[in-house]
Amino acid sequence: MYKVDVLFPGYARLNSEGFMEANGSCTLVVGENVKVIVDTLTPWDKDLLLEKLKEYQLKPEDITHLVCTHGHPDHVGNNNLFTAAKQHIVGFSVHHKDQFYLHPFDCGDSYELAENLYVLPTPGHTMDSVSLVVKTLDGMVVVAGDLFENEQDLTDDKIWIDAGTENESLQREQREKVLKLADFIIPGHGPMFPVPTKFKTEAGS
Ligand SMILES: [Zn+2]
Repeated sequence: MYKVDVLFPGYARLNSEGFMEANGSCTLVVGENVKVIVDTLTPWDKDLLLEKLKEYQLKPEDITHLVCTHGHPDHVGNNNLFTAAKQHIVGFSVHHKDQFYLHPFDCGDSYELAENLYVLPTPGHTMDSVSLVVKTLDGMVVVAGDLFENEQDLTDDKIWIDAGTENESLQREQREKVLKLADFIIPGHGPMFPVPTKFKTEAGS
């Protein structure tokens, strides 16, 4: 079984000068033979990321897989810390060095990293967005990137729509799919939250 820790909860807010301040969430998933980092913040967060890994007695070389939920700059900034990983999965791209493996994410196929650990295509925010699905002792955790902006967007669609969506109806569909599947969601720009039963039932009806 896997252990999931949010190394850095993302945020997004308008500052007093009218600029958007945002950074993505960064998550560590540890299992028996796999260690996965999901999303790597901005290029200015290298030291922060190294510090966070150190808290778990980890070095970047210990990471076996890197998953980036999509290619926006606050989610991919430190990918090159993890060149010892077997694979990088960045949106729908699966690669190692200059070798790219074709995987039919666009047909809805997930990509298994290990037992009970897989990358699920969840397009909408960008057309090649993915989520990592992890089975834990507490239930299913979905590291969802910007499919969900934060917990508040469950009751206020404006939040995820204003955060940017390349296909609103597709994203809505994918959100419903993930709400059915997940017990906990790690959104792209906020702390982890439990999926309220209400939404699981609504999504299932
Ligand atoms: Zn994004």
